[in-house]
Amino acid sequence: MKIMCIGRNYADHAKELNNAIPNEPVFFLKPDTALLTRNKPFFYPDFSKEIHFETEVVVKIKRLGKNIEERFAHKYYDEVGLGIDFTARDLQRTCKQKGLPWEKAKAFDNSAAISEFVPLSSLPDSGHWDFHLDINGERKQTGNTRDMLFSIHRVIAYLSQFFTLRTGDLIYTGTPAGVGPVQIGDYLEGYLEGEQRFAFRIK
Ligand code: ZN
Repeated sequence: MKIMCIGRNYADHAKELNNAIPNEPVFFLKPDTALLTRNKPFFYPDFSKEIHFETEVVVKIKRLGKNIEERFAHKYYDEVGLGIDFTARDLQRTCKQKGLPWEKAKAFDNSAAISEFVPLSSLPDSGHWDFHLDINGERKQTGNTRDMLFSIHRVIAYLSQFFTLRTGDLIYTGTPAGVGPVQIGDYLEGYLEGEQRFAFRIK
């Protein structure tokens, strides 16, 4: 399976990193070795001094698709989760300055934390879902999927022009404003529509 991630999909987050508002989705990939499941701890890597959390709604693809039309995109997923796109912000800054790819900063082991998936039927039909991240009991980041620049359906259609989507592929749909650093010892709890979806520690 592959992990596709959308960058700059919330205007307020693009602004906080001084990025322009994109007119088409920005994306990057993570390998399957990036997955961090079942609330296992995240071990702070030696190569960075500035690991940031990015809380994101994650779509799980349920069938094979290529060149999917936006109006049919809803047929390609029926579960979503909540995840963290861990980012080595210091390395990313260097990559950006040099015009290099971001993989070193984005695709490392355990950089894609993911909750259990929940059926869409258990979430509001509107597709407007509140999510937030608490660290050590303090609210650090809040968002709502209605504020995405590119909707889930648009993102599926867009990505499927470039990649065949397969069952089990994941799409991290971007993070709202409020990203920030994690420290060893931090306890992260993610909530989607008021229910805790993940809880794990930074070690
Ligand atoms: Zn992200």
